[in-house]
Amino acid sequence: MHKVTGSSPVPPTMKKKEIMSVAELLNNLIELQSVDEDIFDFKRQLNEIPAKLKALDDEIETVNSSLKERQEELKRLQLDRKNKEMDLGEKENAVKKYQTQLYQIKTNNEYTVLEKEIAGLKADNSVLEEDILIIFDKIEAAEKALGEQKKKLEEEKKRIEREKKKIDSEKQEIGKKLAELEEKRKTMTPLVDKETLRRYERILHGKDGLALVPVKGENCGGCFVNLPPQIINEIRIREKIIYCERCARMLYSED
Ligand SMILES: [Zn+2]
Repeated sequence: MHKVTGSSPVPPTMKKKEIMSVAELLNNLIELQSVDEDIFDFKRQLNEIPAKLKALDDEIETVNSSLKERQEELKRLQLDRKNKEMDLGEKENAVKKYQTQLYQIKTNNEYTVLEKEIAGLKADNSVLEEDILIIFDKIEAAEKALGEQKKKLEEEKKRIEREKKKIDSEKQEIGKKLAELEEKRKTMTPLVDKETLRRYERILHGKDGLALVPVKGENCGGCFVNLPPQIINEIRIREKIIYCERCARMLYSED
């Protein structure tokens, strides 16, 4: 019987853990944080996409409803014109009728009354004719505006289609990059011990993708609280992981 030497049953990760110093651990965490920051940023960009698409649809809707308003206005004007033309036609017929009646009238009095009636109708008719001419001008302007609005809508639709395609390809690009980063992350997490990783990830999700921050001058790089010199010293020494007392993020010194 002899002892087997040279092949240790200790798993490589445990070995790593045993030999890894806090300084090494922090370096691994710094790299992980850099990847996680990108992951959070890309996810944020993905989350913003539905609102962007909605905003584009709203833009189309605005042009569309303005187009509908102009169509309604044109319809109103056309109806107004038709009514006034009918009114004019009826009154013109009345004038003709009264004018033939004039020849059949026996008394002067009756004649004067009918003549007055005819004059009144003719006055009404000239007002109607003027109104109709004004409406014609308005219809012409409304048709022109409607044509422009239709053109604008078509242009807007094309522009928004292009924007949407752009957003779609951005989305695909982000998806690809995210998948790459997630793969990269998988190779990095084993370099941090489970307990530290668990704490790190809890902070990461609670603090919007920022769990480990550098000291900036004398302040926490996450919440900017002023750090006492003794804490800054401890951070520099890298003998243990120091957490910000205010925002609970892990701290490191870039020196
Ligand atoms: Zn802080």
